Amino acid sequence: MLPIDHIFPALSEPKKIFITTHQKPDADALGSTLGLYHYLLQKGHTPTVVIPNELPDFLHWMPAIDTVLNYDSESKLCEQVLAESDLIFCLDFNHLSRIKGLEQPLRNATQPRILIDHHLQPEADVFYCGTSNPDKSSASEMVYDFILQCGDAELINDAIAQCLYTGAMTDTGSFRFPATTGSVHEMIAFFKNRGLEHSIIHQYVYDSWSANRMKFLGFALYEKMDIAASGKYGIIALSTKDMEPFHLTSGDTEGLVNYPLSIAGVQVAVLITEKSGEIKMSFRSKGNIDVSTFARTYFNGGGHFNAAGGKSDTGFEATVAKVKSLIDNIIP
Ligand code: 5GP
Ligand code: MN
Repeated sequence: MLPIDHIFPALSEPKKIFITTHQKPDADALGSTLGLYHYLLQKGHTPTVVIPNELPDFLHWMPAIDTVLNYDSESKLCEQVLAESDLIFCLDFNHLSRIKGLEQPLRNATQPRILIDHHLQPEADVFYCGTSNPDKSSASEMVYDFILQCGDAELINDAIAQCLYTGAMTDTGSFRFPATTGSVHEMIAFFKNRGLEHSIIHQYVYDSWSANRMKFLGFALYEKMDIAASGKYGIIALSTKDMEPFHLTSGDTEGLVNYPLSIAGVQVAVLITEKSGEIKMSFRSKGNIDVSTFARTYFNGGGHFNAAGGKSDTGFEATVAKVKSLIDNIIP
């Protein structure tokens, strides 16, 4: 993979640009792709954001969200957009296995693929050029860096600032995780100096729960959170049957994994969910505990050092037992 500036010459003329991100897109996935979309639009390009599957309700306010195509529900249209595009930008993921049904169409595509991502272990040989930096807070921050590198800081308008703020805010846990560097705060200062209203974004993202979701949180913490006898890890395991009564929608389990980490002494938190026969896991850790390698080694997953995910096909109960039997090995 070459450095990202190798794509600059191609961007000097109007291009059709396919922009995509990981499945189950979160706020950084949408924030970074739509931030880039609004930038490329101003440069005279024709960008389209295509996501592998549905987006969470709490992101429906984002600028230009109505232009986003969903591969799950509009495959033919998405394949047509892909076929007609000149360039493919891949944001907030680094392995084509992270884009579900879009994986094969993207692997077969002959256009240059450009990576902007902050996860560990990129599948570097599938990208023509790009930037991959696990020290960055968010893909959204990296899109900001990209715009600056292109010399276009003055093109950062309200839509771009809103999108990139949202991604950086959520991926840093509202600016508290270690990846919240001085550069993150400098970016936010830049947005604020240009008039960004940040409070409304916090309201959209964090104060938009349904009553059902709040009751579900209470249930999950009271009935389903299991803190190890050692006090060092907490697991929340939710089967399809557990979740059924709450009529959850996409995004309703977002953030749930963080709760056990708020307990003093807990160093690793795990969320295990069973949805439509699939078992998904989220791992979070504090300090020097590498959950990314853990997820990759045992659960066909990956992610960041302190925040990773994986999947399992060995059944719900067996998966919970497997996590419990292995997790002590990574906790000092
Ligand atoms: P979450 O727990 O919020 O779903 O994901 C946490 C982090 O791990 C995210 O950065 C996400 O991209 C990554 N991640 C989640 N699930 C998987 C997976 O199955 N495979 C890989 N490689 N990364 C994952
Ligand atoms: Mn991200």
